[in-house]
Amino acid sequence: MITIAVTAESAGEPRVALTPETTKKYVQLGCEVRIESGAGLRSRFADALYEAQGAKVFQTAAEAVTGADILLKVRKPGPDAVAGLKPDALVIGILDPYERAGIEPLAATGRTLFAMEFMPRITRAQSMDVLSSQANLAGYKAVVDAASLFEQALPMMMTAAGTVPAAKIFIMGVGVAGLQAIATARRLGGVVSATDVRPATKEQVASLGAKFVAVEDEEFKQAQTAAGYAKPMSPEYQKKQAELVANHIKNQDIVITTALIPGRPAPRLITTAMVESMKPGAVIIDLAAERGGNCELTRAGETVEHKGVRIVGPINLPGTVPVNASSLYAKNLATFLETMIDKKEKTLAINWSDEIVTGTLIAKDGKIVHPALQPKEAA
Ligand code: NAD
Repeated sequence: MITIAVTAESAGEPRVALTPETTKKYVQLGCEVRIESGAGLRSRFADALYEAQGAKVFQTAAEAVTGADILLKVRKPGPDAVAGLKPDALVIGILDPYERAGIEPLAATGRTLFAMEFMPRITRAQSMDVLSSQANLAGYKAVVDAASLFEQALPMMMTAAGTVPAAKIFIMGVGVAGLQAIATARRLGGVVSATDVRPATKEQVASLGAKFVAVEDEEFKQAQTAAGYAKPMSPEYQKKQAELVANHIKNQDIVITTALIPGRPAPRLITTAMVESMKPGAVIIDLAAERGGNCELTRAGETVEHKGVRIVGPINLPGTVPVNASSLYAKNLATFLETMIDKKEKTLAINWSDEIVTGTLIAKDGKIVHPALQPKEAA
């Protein structure tokens, strides 16, 4: 029988890697599910809800993991937290694989590590894509937070006492988070515009009823990689983009920035001068804060006020909607894990050549094995 353990996350992480729904799924697959008492509480999942679906609840993390085949986590555990697992156990989570100082000691324990953020973005793996499931919620929450901070109403209201104008909301970066931000901002009645460097986004923005604002030159036509991501843009493009943004942003009430380029610091799209051109009371929510920020003034985890404009640099926005974020994340994990289980024998049967396994496997037998994590050859 496969034993799956789940333990509580640290104080700063309200999400949990198991829900009562996924417990049921694992039990149906013939697994034993062990959870540390209280692990789901911050996502509003009480111990009794897990027990009702067949999980065993343990008072401590150490008891829950002892002898388990698999440890499911949201964030990377420390080496001590995996010590009780079987020597060749799997550890699956958002492991932040580029953070070597944390990954190396964990890999050295000999456990097999899977980083969910490396899930290939192929059609078959869409239901296992944690970046999408969490970014979607972040895009939603950014708009709701901005609406709550903004000291004016968002929709136009025509009343006997006068007209309240609609708020102007600008979304920069139209990936998964940006698309949900546009949809949410539209639902709240804002006048929404959006920008991106990938041409494919133009139609997506229009289909959500927002206005597309971008420098559409020859470089723009080539800005998407085969994997669907943005390329870093040339200094010439960046200059044209900055002029366009400068003109547009001064009239905006709320700006949500989500622009990212894989493996690089976030592109700087909003300068201090642009912030100074905005009206006092305007709000910028910078979802790229953890990767350096799209705005020059962003500080991760803080709200900065500059000449009456507030710039919010949230960290872990999905964690502020933990009930949904945990539900979707746990489902992503369960869908992934199901592909590794032999349903008849009720044993682990990992296909080591499967793209979703090779894509997410970062360490095995004490070694870091993922190609993206190998030391660069000295030139
Ligand atoms: P991301 O988080 O890497 O980036 C967010 C957005 O920022 C992207 O749209 C990017 O084009 C944009 N951006 C980068 N530099 C910019 C700049 N200088 N100015 C303005 N915008 C800039 O992207 P993401 O949300 O992870 O999604 C990227 C793409 O992958 C999308 O097309 C998405 O639909 C696709 N996707 C595919 C799958 C799948 O097939 N399984 C899953 C998820 C996402």
